[in-house]
Amino acid sequence: MSEYPNTATGGCLCGAVRYQATAEPDFVAYCHCNSCRKATGAPVAVYATYFEKDVHFTQGRRKTYASSPGVSRTFCGDCGTPISYEAEWNGDIVIGFFVSTLDNPENFPPQKHVAHGDRISWFDAADKLPRFLGFPGTGQKPDSVGPEP
Ligand SMILES: [Zn+2]
Ligand SMILES: [Zn+2]
Repeated sequence: MSEYPNTATGGCLCGAVRYQATAEPDFVAYCHCNSCRKATGAPVAVYATYFEKDVHFTQGRRKTYASSPGVSRTFCGDCGTPISYEAEWNGDIVIGFFVSTLDNPENFPPQKHVAHGDRISWFDAADKLPRFLGFPGTGQKPDSVGPEP
């Protein structure tokens, strides 16, 4: 595991929804998939993923949208900020917070790119992180390791 802080706090733009995590994230990654891009309105999403047991919503209630079977995307019903991606993964519920909703995103640099095969062709990041065409471990697409730019 890496050197991420073992606590994190965050929330939406208006402050109505606040959350706290009490562990290191399982991983931090860029996601280039179409669903994340639509959900965020951004050319790429970056999320810090935690297990549900380590997450507490400390203020407000997030709204949820079932974006595909078993997957919810949550947001603030007041200001519309996308907050998280939530899904079952190998028997656990995982909650991926969009990293820009963290109070200290500087402390959570991404480790990899996933769904790089779905990225907008004019967008890439100037880093040497591994780029996976699909989602590592799912067998959906061959994993493509190695920096592209
Ligand atoms: Zn809000
Ligand atoms: Zn995605």
